[in-house]
Amino acid sequence: MDRELLEQTLTELGQPSYRAKQVWEHACAGASSYEEMSSLPKGLRSELSERVPFSTLSLEQQLEARDGTVKALFRTHDGHPVESVLMRYRDGRRSVCISTQSGCPLQCAFCASGQMGFKRNLTAWEIFDQALYFRQVEQVNHGALMGMGEPLMNLTAVLTAVRALPDLGIGHRHTSVSTAGWVPGIDKLAVEGLPVRLALSLHAPDDELRRTLMPVTARFPIAEVIAACERFYALRRRKVLVEYLMLAGVNDRPEQARALVRLLDPGRFKLNLIPYNETGAFRGSSRAVIYSFRQALAKAGLEATVRLARGREIDAACGQLAGTVGAASRT
Ligand code: SAH
Repeated sequence: MDRELLEQTLTELGQPSYRAKQVWEHACAGASSYEEMSSLPKGLRSELSERVPFSTLSLEQQLEARDGTVKALFRTHDGHPVESVLMRYRDGRRSVCISTQSGCPLQCAFCASGQMGFKRNLTAWEIFDQALYFRQVEQVNHGALMGMGEPLMNLTAVLTAVRALPDLGIGHRHTSVSTAGWVPGIDKLAVEGLPVRLALSLHAPDDELRRTLMPVTARFPIAEVIAACERFYALRRRKVLVEYLMLAGVNDRPEQARALVRLLDPGRFKLNLIPYNETGAFRGSSRAVIYSFRQALAKAGLEATVRLARGREIDAACGQLAGTVGAASRT
């Protein structure tokens, strides 16, 4: 729901100033239409239905995996695909993975979102409405701006959306913003003062390899990205989560573990090893290799966790968001 359009419309309709807040609170509490908002005058409900779309996105398809993960495919009003994922954990955590762009300009070699090309930045309310949609399904409490797109290349809209997320139950401490290493965005995010977590998709310990996986490295080499993350830590005092995809024979050798140890100060970084969800070009490291890589890191004093893959059979897992309908049955 476009909050600015809502406020403007209510003003035009001569409504009292508390109305916008009232409607917004209903929406953030999980209402799925204006009709349900019984504390609003009936005439106003139908006026709003006509003038302020309840969501800026229309749902095209929804899929649910056996582990409870739900993937939603939306379209923007101008027809671009947007995908979002709800992950359900046994401890009650309900985490929404949110897209910030339709497609992605960064073209990482291992990721399906880059392969579909870049359509456009999403607006703040298109970002927010993905979480609002899942709030209609159930209570949500964690948010990850880790879907399609590079959040720090669309920072103004991302910040507006992030600032509104607590209204529907996702506090800043439970919000992560993931970047491929867009240095100016890291610095801007740091000075905003929000206690969100920064996540960095690193995936390689040296520039030469990283350039082949993530072309953005040519613009921002690893040393600059790590320095920006250290500035973020200095200002925010929150460890940066480094994401490291495990690609067989590419970045999973013991000497690469040692290079990571030299790069990442355990006082400022946490490391998360990510089993690769195959999208074509690479093979994922075996479980055994992932665990011995982790062991090598631990021996040198760098603790790492291994990410649990969710929703793989519905192409809802990391790197599988490609805006395609019906790709779900690929096994
Ligand atoms: N552009 C931002 C946000 C998108 S992130 C970023 O790069 O961080 C999505 C996360 O999924 C990143 O850590 C990305 O590296 C990871 N990812 C991409 N493709 C993947 C795949 N096929 N399997 C597992 N993780 C993948």
